[in-house]
Amino acid sequence: MRGWWQAAADLVLGACCPLCGGPGLRPCRPCAATIAPEPLVQHVGDLPVAVAGLHEGPRRDALLTWKVGGAATLDEVMAHHLAAAVLTLIGDGSSVTLVPVPSTRRSRRERGRDLVSDLATATARRLAVVGVDARVRPVLRLVRQPRDQHALGREERAHNLAGSMRCAAFPTGPVVVVDDVLTTGSTLAEAVRALSAEGAMEILGAATLVAAVEGCPPVASPPTHGLRSKQAERFRALAVEQGVGHGNRGHRTQQ
Ligand SMILES: [Zn+2]
Repeated sequence: MRGWWQAAADLVLGACCPLCGGPGLRPCRPCAATIAPEPLVQHVGDLPVAVAGLHEGPRRDALLTWKVGGAATLDEVMAHHLAAAVLTLIGDGSSVTLVPVPSTRRSRRERGRDLVSDLATATARRLAVVGVDARVRPVLRLVRQPRDQHALGREERAHNLAGSMRCAAFPTGPVVVVDDVLTTGSTLAEAVRALSAEGAMEILGAATLVAAVEGCPPVASPPTHGLRSKQAERFRALAVEQGVGHGNRGHRTQQ
């Protein structure tokens, strides 16, 4: 419920960039450029996970300002980042179904909305602009509310989440599971387990905004796909036009 009062406060107090505090109605171009997506692909078991960057430096500040600070003016920047991650997975494909991981009641209460579902919807809109037929199918449900994950280690997280999700419907076409942060991969692994239990589907992988630096597998593989040149061109042009970053600056492998 932060949206309306933030908008009202902006009217009274004057709007500013949520990252540097400079004047403006949304993130300023220099701030957005500082955190432009640098997609890389990591693996959780056999699952390729494309992330738009690592959870460190200005990108970490931006993520926390958006997620914890409730800066909805960063929604489009975050959607741009997730779209960049999704695009590294779909290669030459022209369609994708985004399946958001389900939010806990605690998360919805704290954030005032279903952050990941809203992010998926905004991401699908951006993908559509560059010619990808992207749709959001929120088919995953929580069958129980898992404990707060923050203080839990890798094994405790996996145990906490095991069997916590079910798939309510069968998404068709190539699927990418989406979440905001990759920490140990337990959430994504549970999401894929629940989806696979519904039947054989084409799961291309998962995509997140950032990967936690400490929770990451030490070795990451470069993506096997790149953007089709026309899509890549349009995606970068869109980023520059809207001031949400300089677009996909290419892939790199985490050392
Ligand atoms: Zn700024």
